[in-house]
Amino acid sequence: MSNVHELQFIKDQIEDLKKDGVYRKLPVLEGANESEILLNGKKVINLSSNNYLGFANHPKLKEAAIKGVEEYGVGSGAVRTIVGNMDIHEELEKTLAEFKREEAVMVYQSGFNCNAGTIQAITGKGDLIISDELNHASIIDGARLSRADKTVYKHADMKDLERILKEKRDQYTNVLIITDGVFSMDGDIAPLPEIVELAEKYKAMTYVDDAHGSGVLGESGRGTVDHFGLHGRVDFTIGTLSKAIGVVGGYVAGSNTMKEWLSHRGRPILFSTSLPPAAVCAISEAVKLLMSTTEFTDKLWENGRYFKDRMKEAGFDIGNSGTPITPVMVGEEEVTMKFSKGLLDRGVFVSGIVFPTVPKGTGRLRCMVTAGHTKEQLDQAVETFVSVGKEMGVI
Ligand SMILES: *Cc1c(COP(=O)(O)O)cnc(C)c1O
Repeated sequence: MSNVHELQFIKDQIEDLKKDGVYRKLPVLEGANESEILLNGKKVINLSSNNYLGFANHPKLKEAAIKGVEEYGVGSGAVRTIVGNMDIHEELEKTLAEFKREEAVMVYQSGFNCNAGTIQAITGKGDLIISDELNHASIIDGARLSRADKTVYKHADMKDLERILKEKRDQYTNVLIITDGVFSMDGDIAPLPEIVELAEKYKAMTYVDDAHGSGVLGESGRGTVDHFGLHGRVDFTIGTLSKAIGVVGGYVAGSNTMKEWLSHRGRPILFSTSLPPAAVCAISEAVKLLMSTTEFTDKLWENGRYFKDRMKEAGFDIGNSGTPITPVMVGEEEVTMKFSKGLLDRGVFVSGIVFPTVPKGTGRLRCMVTAGHTKEQLDQAVETFVSVGKEMGVI
């Protein structure tokens, strides 16, 4: 008998990962997240971060964070319902609500726990959650925490969504339709106007997780709801403060009623310590920057278009992205991973995305273009793609 503390059952499963070729080590970033980075000791162009606007190492945000530490310390010291609700948290939520053009915002410690805490607070027994099949893992986990029934519709398929609404609406008290605003693996935008129409027709609520849309789409990054002019017609809009905003955290934007309820029933608000002052002050600065100028989002889109045009010219299949996310479709899992390694060897870091994250045979290299990239870096990345792609027979 093996010793129980050896965790043999976990070791066996790790061996399975290795057999399946999906075992990996975490890459180590030495220094700040920039368009060019030191990764595992090697200088490479970074096409893998969610730092869309280059805010993660922005001098103004760093200055705000330092000031936050000096005035408020390094930690908030408690959950918000006790004494962890500082005036800077309140101010941040007001600023975010103004930015998002919504009545109110409730800030969480991450986008992940925002989904984990919000979905279960607004749905219950007798309700139905209808979710796009490609929704983010944190939505899936969040829905699991709810006592509501759950079902999925085919990706962005409005006929399938209506079929479910028609069949099931009458059997439930409340129905909540959940979708990503921007789907992170392909960069495609959810058909939000159609979803909202269907929701209103069948009296369902809507919940949009705009982690990859906020700071990217809409006026100066106000998000997918703003992009489509749907203010007031989406009940819950989730955003992350960890991607384009460059810091960490998540939030839900919507009505005062939503906020009042979540301050009583959002479990991460009640049972997990609030964001630290440095993060809160840096985020506030980021949102104020976005409200004062569109230069960051303009640059992001300019770079995105430039890179996509050049990759298309070079003969790559770059899918159907509606955002600066640029998936380079490769196909087979092994070829995709080899391509990614070939790029890294020549100084370009692009993560290969393969099954089970995406369907079998649809492996891709997901290029994350940011406002921080220079034209020279993008040119160099394209040239490297071309030389590896030719060698491997992809183009
Ligand atoms: C990244 C992401 C999250 C998680 O956000 P964090 O702030 O990193 O926890 C949630 N939803 C979607 C759609 C995401 O892409």
